[in-house]
Amino acid sequence: MRLLVVEDDPDLNRQLKAGLEEVGYVVDTAFDGEEGHHLGDTEPYDAVVLDLGLPVLDGLSVLERWRRDGRLMPVLILTARDRWSDKVAGIDAGADDYVAKPFHMEEVVARLRALVRRAAGHASNEITAGDVRLDVRAGKVTRDGMTVKLTSHEFRLLSYLMHHKGRVVSRTELIEHLYDQDFDRDSNTIEVFVGRLRKKVDSELIETVRGLGYRIAVSDDGPR
Ligand code: CA
Repeated sequence: MRLLVVEDDPDLNRQLKAGLEEVGYVVDTAFDGEEGHHLGDTEPYDAVVLDLGLPVLDGLSVLERWRRDGRLMPVLILTARDRWSDKVAGIDAGADDYVAKPFHMEEVVARLRALVRRAAGHASNEITAGDVRLDVRAGKVTRDGMTVKLTSHEFRLLSYLMHHKGRVVSRTELIEHLYDQDFDRDSNTIEVFVGRLRKKVDSELIETVRGLGYRIAVSDDGPR
């Protein structure tokens, strides 16, 4: 899952990026409203953390422009503790949730996790496909009740496919959502990691849809 953090305070920006990367997200950052707006307008993010008080272009205007232009990614706004009117204005402008400053990283993480899974249509932190169960909060995968050990990258890939199970996900989409801006997009890395997941988790979990991408079949109960 790839996130955008728009925050002009360098320490806070760094802290958010580090905290979100630590729990497995890929994070791009912007330090003013114009840069943030441009990234959110051109890159496909799974969610955005948006400060409201930003130089060049304020956060509320950034959000309004995205929504006006049909950019639908979940947006979590950062507001000042005592400015209730900011929260109302932010929600009205199209924010999905807010966190007041100063915040605990755990709260930002929990709210983002909920936004990302709800945007993908999941009400709970556990997503299942056959006997494979992915716990988004714990960052854990089990098959038939047994823990499957995955690297953080393998987990990210499986998590994205599980969030979007039942749908064909192209390699381009995976690359866009699993790597930051600087990644070499011609690489065959995705295929390699899908191969590893098949080996480690289940050989039939991830289906290759020739010429289109990959799909995890929808089947919540019983064997596939
Ligand atoms: Ca600020």
